[in-house]
Amino acid sequence: RRRDPGETEFHQAAREVLHGLGPVLRAHPEYARARIVERLCEPERQLIFRVPWVDDQGTVRVNRGFRVEFNSALGPYKGGLRFHPSVDLGIVKFLGFEQIFKNALTGMSIGGGKGGSDFDPKGRSDGEVMRFCQAFMTELYRHLGEHTDVPAGDIGVGAREIGYLFGQYKRITNRYEAGVLTGKPVGWGGSHARTEATGYGAVYFAREMLSTRGHDFDGRRVVVSGSGNVALYAVEKVHALGGRVVACSDSSGHLVDEDGLDLDLLKEVKEVRRARLSVYAEAKPGARFSARGSVYDVPCDVVLPCATQNELGRQDAVALVKNGVLAVAEGANMPCTPDAVEVFRDARVLFGPGKAANAGGVATSALEMQQNASRDSWTFERTEDRLAAIMGEVHARCRATAETYGEDADDYVLGANTAGFLRVAEAMLAQGVV
Ligand code: NDP
Repeated sequence: RRRDPGETEFHQAAREVLHGLGPVLRAHPEYARARIVERLCEPERQLIFRVPWVDDQGTVRVNRGFRVEFNSALGPYKGGLRFHPSVDLGIVKFLGFEQIFKNALTGMSIGGGKGGSDFDPKGRSDGEVMRFCQAFMTELYRHLGEHTDVPAGDIGVGAREIGYLFGQYKRITNRYEAGVLTGKPVGWGGSHARTEATGYGAVYFAREMLSTRGHDFDGRRVVVSGSGNVALYAVEKVHALGGRVVACSDSSGHLVDEDGLDLDLLKEVKEVRRARLSVYAEAKPGARFSARGSVYDVPCDVVLPCATQNELGRQDAVALVKNGVLAVAEGANMPCTPDAVEVFRDARVLFGPGKAANAGGVATSALEMQQNASRDSWTFERTEDRLAAIMGEVHARCRATAETYGEDADDYVLGANTAGFLRVAEAMLAQGVV
């Protein structure tokens, strides 16, 4: 903490991982001798840069850009870019650190990194977003490459932003390097099912967890937080599996629709009109929007927190347990606070941490890289089948590792951290002190 003062979220993420590594470190003293843990906690490279741009009024604006290239033992740095006013080095480092283990857990050849800016795209015109993305890439491009560092989207960075970033990369480098960014639209190098992958993947992971206790989604009440990329496609997959999502949220409040959310209306409000959730409630009889209270007070069987870090606290967890929740799968990164996770653990609620449950997004990004490298384009069905298989493997890996190094196969936190760590540690050991 003395080395990285003020990086609260990074400390939280690192503490959570390191906390459970005792058994694996005891079993492998060679990792301690090689200082694997200390090396893992220190990013290979951190970039902080100025992003000057001009808004629609002709005023010069200055934002801060970040890219943390955390670990490349398993492949090129891979992880999204987040554009949100809350972004600082601590947030980017927490996300990059998580990404190392998540990417390892997918079984694919990708290292860990993350980046972004404190730029707020909300309320900005397309022209402003484009000029910002161009300014951001004008510095970042020199650090990227399909074999070096491959960013993708995250909060505030969707297909529109990826398009502008790619355009500027291509202009500066004079190279059509499709594999340098993932999350591209399908028409020019993107992968089918990438947009859906994180939300779908979280639901697949929850389905696997439920099946260990003989349950499935059919007829289940589900609550999803957020209403962005991950949340929307989680809703879509829950409905396809026979469940009913009765509530979701955004940063202005939460929405309850006991009939089950109308996904077309929700997409129209959030993706097309980029409006607040209250607009859904105005359009749909019977739906209620509230700016107060918590989405987690709505009784449900399964919860998929898909908004942002530390959005589900102890009190929310207590309310969920009281209402009989069976399973929680984190679609977002670290949405549950450590004391909320403890409440779930004590109540024996199935809990899938983000680095396992939301790994479907980055796994499908790796499938996009594969398609780009072979100049191929797979069908939606083929890509989704791969995604479903990968989520099944991630789930099995977590349980098997938890059984070997812990006391309980249901300990997905220990299983995910340890399985991810083992793969990275082995590669780092083999690659020497670098
Ligand atoms: P989006 O920007 O598309 O959506 C974020 C959503 O969360 C928005 O609806 C936003 O509301 C809402 N939100 C933000 N803060 C709060 C809050 N405090 N309370 C309630 N709602 C809130 O981002 P993504 O869906 O891409 O990402 C969501 C999470 O999933 C992040 O943690 C991200 O790191 C993680 N993730 C994303 C992946 C991806 O493929 N996109 C991959 C793996 C993880 P509003 O519209 O009001 O801003």
